[in-house]
Amino acid sequence: MTIYNFSAGPAVLPEPVLKKAQEELLDYKGSGMSVMELSHRSSLFEEIIADAEKLLRKLMNVPENYHVLFLQGGASLQFSALPLNLAQNKKALYVNTGSWAKKAIAAAQAIDNVHTKVIASSEDRNFTYIPQVSKEQIDQDAAYLHITTNETIGGISYQTLPDTGNVPLVADMSSNILTNEYQVKDFGVIYAGAQKNIGPAGLTVVIIREDLLNEQALFAPMLDYRLQAQSHSMYNTPPTFSIYMAKLVFEWLQDLGGVSQILKYNQQKAGLLYETIDRSDLFQNPVNKEDRSLTNIPFLTDSDALNQEFIQLAQQQGFENLKGHRSVGGMRASLYNAFPFEGVQALVDFMQEFEKAHGG
Ligand code: PLP
Repeated sequence: MTIYNFSAGPAVLPEPVLKKAQEELLDYKGSGMSVMELSHRSSLFEEIIADAEKLLRKLMNVPENYHVLFLQGGASLQFSALPLNLAQNKKALYVNTGSWAKKAIAAAQAIDNVHTKVIASSEDRNFTYIPQVSKEQIDQDAAYLHITTNETIGGISYQTLPDTGNVPLVADMSSNILTNEYQVKDFGVIYAGAQKNIGPAGLTVVIIREDLLNEQALFAPMLDYRLQAQSHSMYNTPPTFSIYMAKLVFEWLQDLGGVSQILKYNQQKAGLLYETIDRSDLFQNPVNKEDRSLTNIPFLTDSDALNQEFIQLAQQQGFENLKGHRSVGGMRASLYNAFPFEGVQALVDFMQEFEKAHGG
């Protein structure tokens, strides 16, 4: 039976990448050692991390005046690192679009000398849309405006970015980095956990504009962006194997034609699922059409029992991890870059059969 993994993360990785990692697992380039066993100061690993950075810069068109950092602690640690580095004794503005934005806001609010302000929210309609932000709402002396480009749980995402004037736009891009053609130059800082579109968990990517690096050293060296940039992400032992896997994923994506090509593929995959949901009398997607996510697609029936039955039967057919997040209920299909079109086709066929069997 073919297994299709719809997990929101850690997520499916490209098969050619896993095969390449398998081939090289015991003996990396004739060294007689696994990548996991290489010193992070060795020339072999130096080459891996340099290549990973070069590839990511190319894929995302990262301008010269931005640093690319390979860190640890997940996007969750960045919720705190970001305000500590950029917003002490300043205002930090946030848009509240759902579960992940809320966590970012809470982390900033926990720092006494950061003046956290939520300037827009879609909580009034259960986070089913992206709230508009006008330039007038943005205090021009703020350290940044933080958005979550894709809410992994609610399934909403930014199609157009807010105009922030001179205030740097900062993004948690964990669930749609490398899936959309966002331009790095439109952001001051981008951060993302790796485990959806980049590689295994354990690696966190931070892309930061040079002039936003902290002037004062931070009390915690590991959280200090300037120190991490000066150390080329090697202040301590970096997550070497995750960085190696990320490099292989970047190569795979480059060979496919880069982000513009994968975007078309992602649009086909998500398009097929949304069309099926929209045509159905049984399933629905609660999100405002213009704000629909390409990568995380919640759908549900109006009966909890039917949702349960669907998830159970789907799993028996090899559709894994379709259960929606507990805060939303129903189902959720996560269709990151490595998820195959055939898996979406198989799912929509199954949804249609299920609907027929239930009187549709
Ligand atoms: N932000 C978003 C949008 C996410 O989807 C997640 C995890 O799923 C996180 C942050 C938290 O990431 P991490 O587990 O890497 O800390």
